[in-house]
Amino acid sequence: MDLSQNVKTVQEKIAAAALAAGRDPAGVTLCAATKVQSDEAIRAAIAAGIRVCGENRVQELTAHLETDAYAGAEVHFIGHLQTNKVRQVVGRVSLIHSVDSERLLRAIDGQAEKLGIVQDILLEVNAAREESKGGIPPEGLPGLAELALSCPHIRLRGLMAIPPVSTVPGANRKYFAQMRHFLVDIIEKMSDNYSVMDCLSMGMSGDYEDAIAEGATLIRVGTALFGPRPPAAGTAH
Ligand SMILES: *Cc1c(COP(=O)(O)O)cnc(C)c1O
Repeated sequence: MDLSQNVKTVQEKIAAAALAAGRDPAGVTLCAATKVQSDEAIRAAIAAGIRVCGENRVQELTAHLETDAYAGAEVHFIGHLQTNKVRQVVGRVSLIHSVDSERLLRAIDGQAEKLGIVQDILLEVNAAREESKGGIPPEGLPGLAELALSCPHIRLRGLMAIPPVSTVPGANRKYFAQMRHFLVDIIEKMSDNYSVMDCLSMGMSGDYEDAIAEGATLIRVGTALFGPRPPAAGTAH
């Protein structure tokens, strides 16, 4: 496994997918999904050109911050976040991808207020309506987006989705297209400062090219960079 070669290969595929869709490759950010990776692997990825790391678990985030493993990169939180752990995340990451309840939204707003900051977030949508997954059902999106826009210490930057693991090429494309429509709807209907609502976080190792074709601006890639994870630690949530 050659990490720097993998980074290069993924970057090339991102550029090709963007150009094929008539998009500027600079409009797609590669977020390295670093769950279960060591400090060494994270540092090597950053040395190889990774500029954004996405962490799933609060415990791993805290440990890597303590050892300054993300030096040279931005950090995002991409995993399920429990309300009682917001203190360990708010203000320590530049974007939280996975906000999916009113309770969590209010907890993040409250902690950001305490810190005197504005926290950038995305709302996670359960696009495929999978029981086992986090995210709000699509019909809950307008209400939660409206609330997010009314929170003074939160800046709603867009939407995130984790569709089913795709085994068939193109299988998730319909979900990616729906997500783009959801974002356009929010921008049109309810935002008076929509110019900052520019993030669509979708696409993983198996389907990021399809996600880019449908407008993804942030793709979250683990396996294609770092190789397969140990099975027990590999779940998204
Ligand atoms: C692990 C993970 C990814 C990356 O998954 P791969 O299939 O390994 O690329 C992306 N997003 C989230 C939320 C994850 O937990």
